[in-house]
Amino acid sequence: MLGAQWGDEGKGKIVDVLSGAFDVVARYAGGHNAGHTVIIGGQKFILQLVPCGVLRPDCLAVIGNGVVLDPMAFLKEIGKLRELGVDVDRQIKVSNRAQVILEYHRMIELAAESAPGRKKIGTTSRGIGPAYEDKMARNGLRVVDLLNEDLLKTHIENACREKNTVAQALFGTHPLDPARMYEEYARAAEQLRPFVTDTAELLNQAIAAGKSVMFEGAQGTMLDIDHGTYPFVTSSSATAGGAITGTGVGPTRVGTVIGVTKAYVTRVGEGPFPTEVHDRAGEVLRERGQEFGAVTGRPRRCGWLDLPLLRYSNMINGTEWLVVTKLDVLDELPVIPVCTGYAIDGKPVDTMPADVRGLELLRPMYTELKGWRSSTEKAQRYEDLPEEAREYLSFLERESGAKIGMISTGPDREQTITLPAFEAALRALHA
Ligand code: GDP
Repeated sequence: MLGAQWGDEGKGKIVDVLSGAFDVVARYAGGHNAGHTVIIGGQKFILQLVPCGVLRPDCLAVIGNGVVLDPMAFLKEIGKLRELGVDVDRQIKVSNRAQVILEYHRMIELAAESAPGRKKIGTTSRGIGPAYEDKMARNGLRVVDLLNEDLLKTHIENACREKNTVAQALFGTHPLDPARMYEEYARAAEQLRPFVTDTAELLNQAIAAGKSVMFEGAQGTMLDIDHGTYPFVTSSSATAGGAITGTGVGPTRVGTVIGVTKAYVTRVGEGPFPTEVHDRAGEVLRERGQEFGAVTGRPRRCGWLDLPLLRYSNMINGTEWLVVTKLDVLDELPVIPVCTGYAIDGKPVDTMPADVRGLELLRPMYTELKGWRSSTEKAQRYEDLPEEAREYLSFLERESGAKIGMISTGPDREQTITLPAFEAALRALHA
């Protein structure tokens, strides 16, 4: 299950709703910048690193090897979950191959993001990008190495020597003290140790034993390091392919791909956004949809549903099912514009431009659909939705090329419509 747009599609809620039917939920990419919001019986949970499945007592929550883990952030998050009565010690497993975010990753990201002349990506400054950089440069520290005191000490000493020099020369940053850092991380490692295991083994054994596993995407397709609006992207593979490399479960073991899309579009941070609206309509979406970042509180940019983008996302991910969230946000609009195609200089564009300039030149072509101007929040079945809302959804389904399996009309678990065909398909997967 992954985000079909730029993240914040409401994946947290949907994973939470569906996880009731899964034995395991595994995160495969990103770090503690995900910020899934789940509301259960009016109580709000914000999960940044731990998969949302953890809120179901029978569900095992796995942090896969594709994730970058900040041990301090992890311990803080599980501390909060423990206070809420979650049995974290039994329910959470962390990959021994996941990369560790260290203090200097944060230091460098913070300094680089505010340095003059640098392109602002709008990162959350949690060290996630620099940790992935070190991973790819084969310079990273993995969880398994964090647990080895000698290795940890040497790694921190060597890395600090290099990072302090670079950060001071480029940004004039105050150097970090490797001895203090080692003490802190060695202490955190001991608390982390009981959670650590070979999660690729664990997941493959679970699947072999007939258990069902859901892979929980973070961010969204258009933020994917390869397929997104580069360079305004995240540092990992947010798309379906990431679930494979980020967990160690082979592609032939994956039963289906579910894309989560809002009934409109939002984006946080910088970068191209073809259907963005800057007028009052954008504010209405922001206010009704409460479009402010779960982690950073930043207002999200809002725009109309973008079908070429959804088609692109469905192609990249091989999406079979769509979950449409936040339909209720459109409840009061008399007409709803939907982008059905793009043009550059009046000429239709069939493929998603790879470059930022091309993306910025895109002019969306809109079709106006009739709004329903009534509440969808209490609908329990597809048939309960107003006729215009059903037409909006069938238009989306027809034009996007994937089947709608679920519709969300509010933040609560109860405000979810599951279509019978989707329910049957999930049951068949579990069989
Ligand atoms: P995620 O990162 O994809 O899980 O998305 P976020 O948690 O950042 O943002 C989704 C927000 O929308 C959260 O505050 C949810 O509680 C809320 N939400 C999810 N589904 C719906 C819905 O159908 N309608 C409304 N109004 N809010 C929703």
